[in-house]
Amino acid sequence: MRAQISGKPLDDWLREYPVLKRVVARQEVCWLNPDYGQPAESSAFDPAEIAAADRRLSRFAPYIKVAFPETAPAQGIIESPLLETAALQEKLAAEVGTVIPGRLLMKADNLLPISGSIKARGGIYEVLKTAETLALRAGLLTESDDYARLASDACRRFFSGYSIAVGSTGNLGLSIGIVAAKLGFRTTVHMSRDAQQWKKDLLREKGALVREYAADYSVAVAAGRQAAAADPRCHFIDDESSHDLFAGYAVAAERLRAQLDEAGLMVDADHPLFVYLPCGVGGGPGGVAFGLKQILGDAVHPFFVEPVASPCFLLGLLTGLNEQVSVFDFGLDNRTAADGLAVPRPSAFVGKTAGSLVAGCMTVTDRQLFRGLKWLADSEAQQVEPSAAAGLLGPGLLLGTDAGRRFIEANGLSGKMNQAAHLFWATGGGMVPQKIRAAYLEQANRIAGLND
Ligand SMILES: *Cc1c(COP(=O)(O)O)cnc(C)c1O
Repeated sequence: MRAQISGKPLDDWLREYPVLKRVVARQEVCWLNPDYGQPAESSAFDPAEIAAADRRLSRFAPYIKVAFPETAPAQGIIESPLLETAALQEKLAAEVGTVIPGRLLMKADNLLPISGSIKARGGIYEVLKTAETLALRAGLLTESDDYARLASDACRRFFSGYSIAVGSTGNLGLSIGIVAAKLGFRTTVHMSRDAQQWKKDLLREKGALVREYAADYSVAVAAGRQAAAADPRCHFIDDESSHDLFAGYAVAAERLRAQLDEAGLMVDADHPLFVYLPCGVGGGPGGVAFGLKQILGDAVHPFFVEPVASPCFLLGLLTGLNEQVSVFDFGLDNRTAADGLAVPRPSAFVGKTAGSLVAGCMTVTDRQLFRGLKWLADSEAQQVEPSAAAGLLGPGLLLGTDAGRRFIEANGLSGKMNQAAHLFWATGGGMVPQKIRAAYLEQANRIAGLND
């Protein structure tokens, strides 16, 4: 813990923002963002980048289809289903003791092809964009070509003259490593202490070089960034500042709109949509929230959900310090079973670009993550990793806290909650090996046993 945070003693912070008392005590909170709906601090990100990303992903679809045959049914478009979860809704209401009016929906990014997590959106997109830029420049490709040609030996040889690097707690490295290695790039993944062994093993098996750090995510990213800077033929995918990652995540919004239409779900002034997004550095949830706000405007309310040990996005927004603040400053240790969310400092780029689009930040204990993971398995037969269960706990924190009820009231939504939809983004778990899955459920069962 630092004696002073931005020149102010901790006690002053706690007095000024009473919610921080619960945050530093590692209790769950629902914090409302006072800047929600205000103009963004930065307009450096051009929304046109999202449409460009969508078109680029369409150009790449023929390549994806041949390189990853599991995407053939969707014609090489990497997308996840939107699921109605009525059984889970009942379970959740019974477990958290709060009625959940309206509908509960799951965006099943655990089922995304290729890498089984939300990182298959941003991470894969940035690798593809990098490949396209190089191939166009070298005259190997024109935009009107059939991109399936990128799977040829000649193209793979070409890409092997370049490298891609990334710092990751696991899933970003996995997504990038799998696709970059498939294209032929030399790939280095700088992994934090939190990264799970099976993720490292799998990456090595795919041909990526894994560098391990006995430190957290911010350190792994910084080390990777520095190593890559020395090599002009290396592209570093920077999770703390990348517009491309952000654009790749944001493409989800237009796809989701089509799925909501198909499901006959209206989203408008009388039919609010609450979206609960697990948050690490902020890129994934920030990109999705940005895209959704572009398309659905005031009717959509994004909430970010973080572990009680790693509420970096909450602290960045609340203090206004963005990446200048870390969870360690407030005496938290960033130790959580939610490895995908174990991030001590938020992305400055995302805070400034999308911070005011976030209705609020919620925190959840690891214990609740495991319980949520089990409810999902029992009620919907969906397998997720602990990080990905965070969003599922959002509705309880909105409907079951004073702050949440204040939000509903202040936004004129009290009479509309029966027509509301609650969408939790299940961000990953598709690649978890069977043995680890069993261990997650065993831990969840132990926690359930403690309750009896
Ligand atoms: C990375 C990740 C997130 C959060 O994304 P950020 O861009 O780090 O905020 C959420 N869930 C899972 C499973 C992830 O891997």
